Amino acid sequence: MVIVERLINELSKLPGIGRKSAMRLAFHLLNQSLDDLTDLSKAIIEVPMNIKECDICHNFMDKKDNVCSICSDNKRNKEKVVVISTVQDLMAIEEVGHYRGQYHVLHGLISPLKGIGIDDIRLDSLVERVKGESEIKEIIFALTPNTDGETTSIYLKNSIQKVNNNIKITQIAKGVPIGSEIEYVDKMTLMKAIENRT
Ligand SMILES: [Zn+2]
Repeated sequence: MVIVERLINELSKLPGIGRKSAMRLAFHLLNQSLDDLTDLSKAIIEVPMNIKECDICHNFMDKKDNVCSICSDNKRNKEKVVVISTVQDLMAIEEVGHYRGQYHVLHGLISPLKGIGIDDIRLDSLVERVKGESEIKEIIFALTPNTDGETTSIYLKNSIQKVNNNIKITQIAKGVPIGSEIEYVDKMTLMKAIENRT
């Protein structure tokens, strides 16, 4: 059972998968055909073989291309850049389909508690993007509204303003989710919603 134990250990490293879920997954896999398992392992191994980060925005993209599909799309607005911490956040905004500007994926947030510093995420390349004759007119922070998100946006705001004073820096509104009952919204969100009223 050493091999099964190894599989359980590997699966339990995945986010949101505890040991019990890893065991359930492992025994589910044991009942699959060799063809299905080969397809699954191919799909996993092909990710690092074929995917890289876009040199401009750090979105994931095919290794065979020069820049990602968003950066290379000339129909998109080049003046606005939404800053997000993960590619999943980028995909969530793209699924809405309303925003037609550019992105910058940080791949994390500054977090002294987790040992993540300014050199561990893609901060410098955003500052480089707004330097000099940049087309960018507005940077929109869409970072998680917690201490790490705040620390990261303050650091970036200062760094951007040092190299380009003409850039407008905004952040997405904090407020009450659509369809939620006011009485159940937490105090901080309600306070921000009243402050940021439209
Ligand atoms: Zn890109």
